[in-house]
Amino acid sequence: MNAEVDYIIVGLGLSGIAFTEQLIKNNKSFIVFENNSQVSSVVAGGVYNPVILKRFTPVWNGHEQLQKAIPFYKELEEKLQLTLDYKFSTKKVFTSVGDENNWFIAYDKPMLSYYMNPEISKERIKGIIGDYGFGELKGTGRIDTPLLVKTYKEYIKSLKSLVKEAFDYSKVKIEKEIVTYEDITAKRIVFSEGFGLKKNPFFNYLPLNGTKGETITIHAPELKIDFLLKGSVFIMPLGNDTYKIGATFNWTDKTSIPTEEGRKELEDKLQKVISVPYTIIEQSAGIRPTVKDRRPLVGKHPKYPKLAVLNGLGTRGVMVAPTVAENLFNHLESNEELDKEIDIERFRQE
Ligand SMILES: Cc1cc2nc3c(=O)[nH]c(=O)nc-3n(C[C@H](O)[C@H](O)[C@H](O)COP(=O)(O)OP(=O)(O)OC[C@H]3O[C@@H](n4cnc5c(N)ncnc54)[C@H](O)[C@@H]3O)c2cc1C
Repeated sequence: MNAEVDYIIVGLGLSGIAFTEQLIKNNKSFIVFENNSQVSSVVAGGVYNPVILKRFTPVWNGHEQLQKAIPFYKELEEKLQLTLDYKFSTKKVFTSVGDENNWFIAYDKPMLSYYMNPEISKERIKGIIGDYGFGELKGTGRIDTPLLVKTYKEYIKSLKSLVKEAFDYSKVKIEKEIVTYEDITAKRIVFSEGFGLKKNPFFNYLPLNGTKGETITIHAPELKIDFLLKGSVFIMPLGNDTYKIGATFNWTDKTSIPTEEGRKELEDKLQKVISVPYTIIEQSAGIRPTVKDRRPLVGKHPKYPKLAVLNGLGTRGVMVAPTVAENLFNHLESNEELDKEIDIERFRQE
């Protein structure tokens, strides 16, 4: 492909999509490389929820990120002519009286009261095991990330800007004002390869550890819930009596292959939360791009400023991607400073 563009983007998961949208809005030209080697954005639950339900604490910058993310996905819905955002409430299954007390304590924190319903529900929900009641969150939901990734790829293909190949790092030539890759000349390259970053010789010094996650999808016709239920696993309604159950956290296995252990762990936990029959219709796995200090990896290469990275979206890519993509774009184009917490400068090696 002979071309002269502003940007080459490597990877079209949630981070690559969010950055490409910045380029389109700002009339920048680009080419995207994508080889389907990572699937985190495709297998993700897609849940957005700015409250950590394990500890009843706010997600780092979660409220602000969500204010940007909701309109971002709405614009994509309009542009791509599909439904991506399914809004539902989230119910936390309490397992002790202590949970109930902690819920009230958390409600007094400013950001949390925005999402938490102060009343504890003691209702019996058919098919759900729960003796201590439920706490409810408002303003949560899910983005249909598999549909988004698939449709967005087709859209980029229709713009004749998609190269369905593995980006070969050894072909990058860095000159003073430009970078080249075979016949392509660009002003910058943005790497958004998720866990694929491990193979990137320019940025694999960054502490991206990666956490494998597995989910199962079940058919459970007697389970009639239209909210996300959060116990030791989440049970998320997908429609037509199907539910996504997730997710596992595995820090050693770095493959995207579903396992017997993963399925068993999810089923064992699921059976402690529901009391109705189900059948498993799908199982999937992927590697979350998680970072040692749980903050995104954003910024220019310390030695080659024409190369930049957008990664480390961790367990909450849906909420954080639009914000960090905008931060990176403004940093590259307008020299705006990056938040120290996301800037890869924090890992600079002398
Ligand atoms: C089981 C599971 C459940 C999850 N649930 C949620 C959830 O409910 N909510 C939430 O917000 N987040 C969730 N996540 C996390 C979320 O998936 C990630 O934060 C996010 O999708 C990461 O996006 P990304 O674009 O950085 O990486 P990826 O989605 O991994 O995308 C990187 C892309 O780069 C491509 N690529 C890599 N190397 C190359 C190369 N050399 N050449 C060409 N292309 C390349 C890959 O093929 C891939 O498409 C979950 C993750 C998992 C695994």
